[in-house]
Amino acid sequence: MNWQPVDCHAHSIWSDGALTIDQIVERAVVLGVKPSVTDHVSRDVQRSIQSVDDVVRYLDALEAFDVLRGAEFCWHDGLWRELPPEIVARFTHRVGSLHAIRLPDGQWVHAFSRKLPDGLTPASYMEAHLATLQDFAREMPVDVLAHPTLVTLPYRALDTDELWTDEHEAAMVDALFAGGIAFEISSRYPPHERLVRRAVDRGVRISLGSDGHTAEQVADVRRPLALARSLSVPDEALYDPRRHGSRTGNRSVQRG
Ligand SMILES: [Zn+2]
Ligand SMILES: [Zn+2]
Repeated sequence: MNWQPVDCHAHSIWSDGALTIDQIVERAVVLGVKPSVTDHVSRDVQRSIQSVDDVVRYLDALEAFDVLRGAEFCWHDGLWRELPPEIVARFTHRVGSLHAIRLPDGQWVHAFSRKLPDGLTPASYMEAHLATLQDFAREMPVDVLAHPTLVTLPYRALDTDELWTDEHEAAMVDALFAGGIAFEISSRYPPHERLVRRAVDRGVRISLGSDGHTAEQVADVRRPLALARSLSVPDEALYDPRRHGSRTGNRSVQRG
């Protein structure tokens, strides 16, 4: 079969998505994309899978379909640490998210909170963001960092250059490279091209993710794919858990 892009990041009704598993598969077939379902497994996302038992039920449901079995885990939430290896190995791949950033005083700044701690500046936030990312990359056994440029809501309107310095970008791609974690080009939170180019130049693997929650969004990875191709990333090098393996140790994965 011809090469097809993989949407490594999409949500179903098992967390906060609108589609059932088979609707996701159907949508991906229409768009010529290999589908995955990667629902939130976190006690800090409102509509999500919140217990080890529910993770097992979720995997049971996914195994009935021809679909890659993933999940999106919050770094700052402890649920991913509770999963035993035999459950982890049932995932084809795992996605990690920085949905909260730890400040030096131990406070967490959430990605979706509207109010920031007193005295926080974009510069001090970004310092903490990169420090949190370095801890994440060292410690979390995931295959992909979701939406690498997601920042807290009040700072999203800021100019890219105000947030991302040369040092921040270098620190990010070094940490991902060292951790063996792919950089996601997200349809939902598109990264700036300079950072993706830096990741590619550093040898970090690139992953495509719709982060889709609706029929219009799921499996639509056209823009991320176009960006990867414009940076001369070969299609076959884009992250595909079955082709490139996974840190879950999934047995159906072909290495090589
Ligand atoms: Zn996310
Ligand atoms: Zn997501």
